[in-house]
Amino acid sequence: FLDGEAGQIIAEPDDATRSRLTAHIQQEHEYQDFLETLKGLPNETLDGRSIEIFANIGSTDDLDAVIANDATGIGLFRSEFLFLAGQDYPDEETQFQSYRSAAERLAGKKVIIRTLDIGSDKTADYFHLEQEQNPALGFRAIRICLTRPDLFRTQLRALCRASAYGNIAVMFPMITSEWEVLRAKELCAQVQKELESENIPYDKHMEIGIMLETPAAVVIADLLAKHVDFFSIGTNDLTQYTLAIDRQSSHLDQFYDAHHPAVLRMIRHAVETAHAAGIWVGICGELGADQSLTETFLEYGVDELSVSPAAVLPTRRVVRSLGLSPKEA
Ligand code: PEP
Ligand code: MG
Repeated sequence: FLDGEAGQIIAEPDDATRSRLTAHIQQEHEYQDFLETLKGLPNETLDGRSIEIFANIGSTDDLDAVIANDATGIGLFRSEFLFLAGQDYPDEETQFQSYRSAAERLAGKKVIIRTLDIGSDKTADYFHLEQEQNPALGFRAIRICLTRPDLFRTQLRALCRASAYGNIAVMFPMITSEWEVLRAKELCAQVQKELESENIPYDKHMEIGIMLETPAAVVIADLLAKHVDFFSIGTNDLTQYTLAIDRQSSHLDQFYDAHHPAVLRMIRHAVETAHAAGIWVGICGELGADQSLTETFLEYGVDELSVSPAAVLPTRRVVRSLGLSPKEA
């Protein structure tokens, strides 16, 4: 027997072990069969409240898994894979083809593409980024894009062009200030104007959102909400920055609490603020797939959870098993 869950090979199992493992395999098959039956069903609680369950992807290679697992959209397309894969900056055409294929495969379902989030733990030599003492607090993501507008413009052009082929939304990572959002939107508007003058089609109603993954962004969420169509909460970085715990470090496990009340309060605050401003809000960090919090997120009123493709149906299962009391008016 190969017990993948325990990471053990059991060469000569005794009868008790054999029957325990056989029963476990049987249960797992039944669980997988049950998940299959959930395909096509709504992400709706027993009392009729629903939530979108989208998928996170790291490259277009994951599109098959998104479709196979019946995700209602893509909530986080980590576009940096295009930049990490090659030896040089991917050109507009390469990026366009990739974004377009995601938009076309999803056939009208939303595809939220996050602009380049490089730096910190993700670097490519050709960027010639300087070594930093605190890379997670350094030159990364939107900070690079706003400092190197040509690079950003190329990506925005590719994204806007691809928006003509499906339901693309764009979101900016690592926002801390209002001016960053305004500047990023301004560059986007310039690119769209250029496309217009070149008679190149793009979706004039493409949604623009931001990630809420710094405490600063959560605290000024009311100011940021005025400028965007949606928020997506990046709990991986939000937890790192809120708890001041390096997400890469394994030495700090005893201090790391994924359910820390500070993080949960931030999420609740972000949801309330988004809704007060009339925009929608999702969670695209790992916490979105934490089944012990699904009910809490529904109570907060989170509109969308974006999880790995393999977690879509298990999350749907949990949502469908919940029977929350109707929300008070
Ligand atoms: C996050 O920070 O929660 C997130 C989704 O982005 P990434 O994990 O790519 O930093
Ligand atoms: Mg992040």
